[in-house]
Amino acid sequence: MKVYFWGTKGSLPSSSLAEEIQRKIFFAIKESMAYDLKTDSDIEAFIKEHLPFYIKGSYGTNTSCIEIKGGNEYVLCDAGTGIRDFGNRLIKNKAAKKDRQPDTFHIFLSHLHWDHIHGFPFFTPAYILGNRINIYGFHENIGDAFEAQQSQPFFPVPLRYMSADIRFSTLEPDREYHIAGLGVRGFKQDHPGVSYGYRFEREGKAIVYSSDCEHREGIERDDYVFLNFFRDADLLIFDAQYSLLDAIYTKENWGHSNNIIAVELSVKAGVKRLCMFHNEPTCDDRSLWDFLEDTRKYLRLYDESYPLIIDLAYDGMEIEV
Ligand SMILES: [Zn+2]
Ligand SMILES: [Zn+2]
Repeated sequence: MKVYFWGTKGSLPSSSLAEEIQRKIFFAIKESMAYDLKTDSDIEAFIKEHLPFYIKGSYGTNTSCIEIKGGNEYVLCDAGTGIRDFGNRLIKNKAAKKDRQPDTFHIFLSHLHWDHIHGFPFFTPAYILGNRINIYGFHENIGDAFEAQQSQPFFPVPLRYMSADIRFSTLEPDREYHIAGLGVRGFKQDHPGVSYGYRFEREGKAIVYSSDCEHREGIERDDYVFLNFFRDADLLIFDAQYSLLDAIYTKENWGHSNNIIAVELSVKAGVKRLCMFHNEPTCDDRSLWDFLEDTRKYLRLYDESYPLIIDLAYDGMEIEV
């Protein structure tokens, strides 16, 4: 299986200001002066090998949407603004191949907060007759929430004008489903209004998507429940929007977790790869880079011998498990 990250920002989309881009260009040009760059491939190699990610890339901009590749049909988690880019890329690729076959999509929702559904009105495949879109979640009345966000005065096109066959299904937590060739199980999470995580399994590999969840200090029972869901996951995508200080002092009860608990739970559960997700929208790329480095340092303090790979998600990242 593979995971492609279409949207990774928490809470709302946030882009880089022009001055931040200019600082990146300044840094890149200054660094390049130490190298004798004569050809395009020299420049490409310099960017790839010598520039840090916070200069050559960005930890923005879209809100939550990931694609799980390896099932029989298209599988997504959440419908933040990343789903718009997913839909547009798909349509472009199909047009290039002159492929007019309809498609089936399965969208698993963590919860109905706006940043997890507000990309859907811009999901072009939903406007194409013949496409089938199955939307799953654990909350009651998911369809009502989608209708509400596409009603006046919020959006000009009502949900019923989308031509695809769109169906909503309410799942039960802790029950195993088989959807699109994947084993799927959901679990309840601590978040305002409650959210749900998902564990996807196929051919002995497991990917856990656990966004929008607050892990509180010292609640052992909750740890036990989560450790069962995270157990031996090949990839854990984990809401680490905050630093430990944020989580304890200023943003307690805001419904998100921190990088320290991300590392500790990953080690305890035997997770192989941790990808922090739902990135803090007020942080610039440099501070998110530092946050990732701090997290890797914390792993060495917490358990130096544990071979956990740690990433911080960004739009356009792909991880194979
Ligand atoms: Zn969120
Ligand atoms: Zn939320």
